[in-house]
Amino acid sequence: MTSLAQTYGPGKFGLSFELFPPKTDAGVKSLFRHTDRLVEFQPSYITCTYGAGGSTQERTLGVISEVRSRYQLPVATHLTCVGSTAQQLRSYLQRAWELDVQNVVALRGDPPQGETEFQATEGGFSYANELVEFIRGEFPDMGIVVGGYPETHQEAVSPAEDLANLKRKVDAGADVIITQLFYDNADFFNFRARADELGISVPIVPGLLPVTNGAQIQRIAALCGAKLPEAFVADLQKHEDDPAGQFEVGVEFATRQTAELLEAGVPGIHFYVLNKSEAAERVLGALDLPR
Ligand SMILES: Cc1cc2nc3c(=O)[nH]c(=O)nc-3n(C[C@H](O)[C@H](O)[C@H](O)COP(=O)(O)OP(=O)(O)OC[C@H]3O[C@@H](n4cnc5c(N)ncnc54)[C@H](O)[C@@H]3O)c2cc1C
Repeated sequence: MTSLAQTYGPGKFGLSFELFPPKTDAGVKSLFRHTDRLVEFQPSYITCTYGAGGSTQERTLGVISEVRSRYQLPVATHLTCVGSTAQQLRSYLQRAWELDVQNVVALRGDPPQGETEFQATEGGFSYANELVEFIRGEFPDMGIVVGGYPETHQEAVSPAEDLANLKRKVDAGADVIITQLFYDNADFFNFRARADELGISVPIVPGLLPVTNGAQIQRIAALCGAKLPEAFVADLQKHEDDPAGQFEVGVEFATRQTAELLEAGVPGIHFYVLNKSEAAERVLGALDLPR
């Protein structure tokens, strides 16, 4: 069993935070100022995203290995199939392992900008389940997270097919599922029940993005297809020219959303913190995590 699988064992609660690799040195400094505050909440691990087309490979590994050595916490690098052959993915994973990055969030990735359909690279992979199988075969001790979609992946033929494809990833060796962001817990509960019926037995961890800014969330939700509840959008709109007011509405919503998920016995929470600590600090400060 990988250490990641043990994170969610009986009597445990997996809190994780997701960062992205900044483009500038100032961005990196700011990231660590915020991460210093986030680690006060004793996360089980921290992850760092991997840019479209593999464009952030070096920065992803740089950030995540620095998080590992600074805080001595388990970490995960995200990794996508976009633009890489199996050999290139192998050498990235090898370097990650040597830097003590022992977990990977294994993804197919989105089509590069300007393209509408994902095209596999020659000698690479078409779907995340192939990447999972590859990692499990070559790096048997690596912890593997995969993405799950409570509202169904945008390209999926049907919700049932999407779930069957999720099961392929689990059957190929994934330890944990982290979901795409969502704002209606009913979607998550329904997804979890359907996954359970299909015999998916690994932990399913909700991925939450507390809103800090109305315009930003509309953009992100449009990109990944997440619905925003009407009453929530209306509340945000009441504070259109008031960033502090929007932040408060967002934090209140996220606190209620998280509390309901905790009550429903989720095995952990993954916060998409976007390199900022304030919203997650407020949400976590208001709640008692079961740990
Ligand atoms: C937690 C999380 C973290 C993310 N981090 C990043 C990141 O760091 N960088 C980034 O670029 N993107 C990231 N993404 C976005 C992700 O790359 C996209 O959502 C992408 O479109 C799908 O990736 P996937 O791994 O879920 O793909 P897959 O599981 O491969 O699914 C993609 C589509 O193909 C279908 N499908 C899957 N397997 C098969 C199969 N064997 N046969 C036929 N159809 C199949 C699925 O139903 C789905 O519609 C993240 C998403 C999540 C949920």
